[in-house]
Amino acid sequence: MKLLEDKILNEGKVLDGGILKVDGFLNHRLDVALIGELGADIAREFVGCGATLIMTVESSGISIAFAAGEKLRLPVLVAKKHKSLNISDGVYTAPVFSFTHKTQNTVVVSKEYLSAGDKVLIVDDFLASGNAALGLLSLVEQAGATTVGFVAAIEKEEQGGRALIEQKGVKVYSLARIKELRAGEIKFN
Ligand code: 5GP
Repeated sequence: MKLLEDKILNEGKVLDGGILKVDGFLNHRLDVALIGELGADIAREFVGCGATLIMTVESSGISIAFAAGEKLRLPVLVAKKHKSLNISDGVYTAPVFSFTHKTQNTVVVSKEYLSAGDKVLIVDDFLASGNAALGLLSLVEQAGATTVGFVAAIEKEEQGGRALIEQKGVKVYSLARIKELRAGEIKFN
């Protein structure tokens, strides 16, 4: 999506360790008009896919998931991130290693809000190594629900997450697909 690619080129900052900082428009200060366009693009791609629910993980996926949910008229389920595994019954949990913070977290959703009949469209801000995606896919599997697609606003191809999701038979859609991320040089696919 050209709009997002231009924004990344103009305002994104490449940090050490292959991290792209997009705080100015995607996850600290939110560019509401841009995120609305991301939602519209996701809706065009997935309209008619039969999704009953959009799922994301707190906190930086929420705005994009909300924008997509608003366009597709679907509720958004926000998986919570916990630091420990010491969590009550009544929830599905999965471990997720955080690429940006280098910490192990647990993602959690209430069983009340994810049912076997659900068809889930997962939306996140980044796809990198695929750890977050696999954790969210596991929550859907535990519920006996189906994942109809995985959406990332920004995919960093070099980290290989796409293959892990596609191996599970899930369609991956990213709005900006970065094939090379170096300071002063960002190349898209
Ligand atoms: P993965 O689990 O695929 O390695 O990483 C996905 C998660 O890590 C995303 O939910 C995102 O929050 C965070 N992340 C991964 N790479 C980046 C990055 O380059 N910049 C930012 N801001 N977050 C990232």
